[in-house]
Amino acid sequence: MVTYKYKEFKSVINKLRYPDSWFWSRYTLNTYSGCTHACIYCDARSQRYYLKDFENEVIIKTNFDKKLDLRLKRARTLLPDIIAPGGVNDAYQPIEQEIEHTRKVLQVIAKHKFPINIATKSKLITRDIDILKKIAEDTWCTVGFSISTTNEELAKFLEPYSSSPSERLEALSVIKKKSPHIQVGTYFIPIIPFLCDDNQNLEDVIKQSKKAGADFVLFSPGLTMRDSQADYFIKKLKNSKYKYVVKPLLELYKGEMYPSAQYVRELHPKLLNLCEKYNIAVRVKRWIPSDYRKWNYKISELLLNKEYLDSLKTGKSNKTMMWAGLNLNNLEESIFDVYKRGNLSKLKNFNQQIIDYVEPYLEKSKDLKHKTGIDRFL
Ligand code: SF4
Repeated sequence: MVTYKYKEFKSVINKLRYPDSWFWSRYTLNTYSGCTHACIYCDARSQRYYLKDFENEVIIKTNFDKKLDLRLKRARTLLPDIIAPGGVNDAYQPIEQEIEHTRKVLQVIAKHKFPINIATKSKLITRDIDILKKIAEDTWCTVGFSISTTNEELAKFLEPYSSSPSERLEALSVIKKKSPHIQVGTYFIPIIPFLCDDNQNLEDVIKQSKKAGADFVLFSPGLTMRDSQADYFIKKLKNSKYKYVVKPLLELYKGEMYPSAQYVRELHPKLLNLCEKYNIAVRVKRWIPSDYRKWNYKISELLLNKEYLDSLKTGKSNKTMMWAGLNLNNLEESIFDVYKRGNLSKLKNFNQQIIDYVEPYLEKSKDLKHKTGIDRFL
C-alpha cells in the first residue's frame, strides 16, 4: 500500500561541480522522493540515501514548478545547461499519470530554454512529447530508456511496476518518429551479472534498441552492491526461480561493491563490438551552448569521449585526460583565447599529450569557425 505525502522543499535544483560525463547533465532536480517502480536492485535502498521506505512512501514536492520558475528567472548566474530530472526516483512513476507534476516542471524548463536529459522506465513519457519536442527544437533534449533485459519475465521480476521492456522500446520508437530532433537511446544499465550478461541478451538489447530508432546505447557492466540494497536484492533472488545466481554473484563480488575488474574488462569489448555491428553510438551527443563556453564544451566532449573509448579498449583509464576534460567546463573564458595566447599548458591537467591532441582541432577550427566549425572533425 503506497502512501503519498505532500511536502514543500526549499531547494529545487542542484548544480553539479562538474557535468556528468555520461549524461552531460549539469543540474539535477527531483520532482518526487521515493519510487513505486520498486526495482529490486535499486540503489535507493542503500543506507546513503536515508530513504526508509522508498517504494511505499512517496513524497510529492509541492509548488515545485513555481519555485523552479522563480529560481530560473532570478538566477543571473545560472547559465542554461542540461537538467537531469530523477535521481533515485523515476519522474514518470505511476502517480505522475494523475497529478502531472513532472509535466508542469517540464513546461517551466521549456519556458526558460534549458536543455534536458531524462531517463525513465515508463512509457508515460510519450504523453509529454509536445513539451519535449519544443525543448529539443529550442535547445536540446535527450530521452533515455533504462533497459537491462529484453526478457519480459525477468524484467517483471527485476522491475515489477515499470513499463515492460517492449513498451519502453515502443515508446522510444514513438518519440523518435514524432520528434526526430529528440536524441533517444537506451541506458543499458545495470547489466546484472548472470542474469543479463549472456550473449543473447547483450545482442538483443542493442539490436532491439537500434530497431526502435535509438541514437545511442550507453552500457555499464555489473551492478553496484551496497549494504542494505545488496541484502534486499540477494534476499529477493533467494526466494525466486533465479536463486541459482546467488552463489556465483557473491563469488564475483567477494563482499565488494563492484564486480571484479576482470569481469568488466571482458564485457566491454563484447558490448563495443555489438554497438559497432549495429552502427549505434556508445555516447550521448552533447548539447553545445552558443556563448563563450562553446569550444570549451566541444573540446571537453572530445577529451572525455576519447578517454572513455580508450579505457573501454585498453581497460586503463587516463585520469589526467578525464580531469582536463572536466575542468574545461569551468573555464571562464573561451579555450580559443587561451590557445591564441599560447597558454594551453596553463589549463588545469593540460599536459603535452593533451595539448598535442587538441591543438590540431583548435588550429583547424580557428580557420573554419565561421563556416562549419569543429563539427567537421568530431
Ligand atoms: S525506476 Fe529507478 S529509481 Fe525507481 S525503483 Fe527503479 S531503479 Fe529505483
